[in-house]
Amino acid sequence: MPSKKKDMGIAKRFGPRYGYSLRKRWKEVMEKRYAEYRCPYCGKVSVMRRISVGIWQCPKCETIWAGGAYTPF
Ligand SMILES: [Zn+2]
Repeated sequence: MPSKKKDMGIAKRFGPRYGYSLRKRWKEVMEKRYAEYRCPYCGKVSVMRRISVGIWQCPKCETIWAGGAYTPF
């Protein structure tokens, strides 16, 4: 069932070891991390690069700024 696998998305690697709610929360965090954001400097909407915890970089203008650990802002 490919559609069911797709629904689980990034959380599927955890398998059944962890509770459903924990996996769901983790999935939400990861989806935010890889979601597209608007660059505050050049206005480009893109997936921001995370250099390290809380340090983000725009792939277009290469500006580096400090943001949240899992989200750019
Ligand atoms: Zn930019």
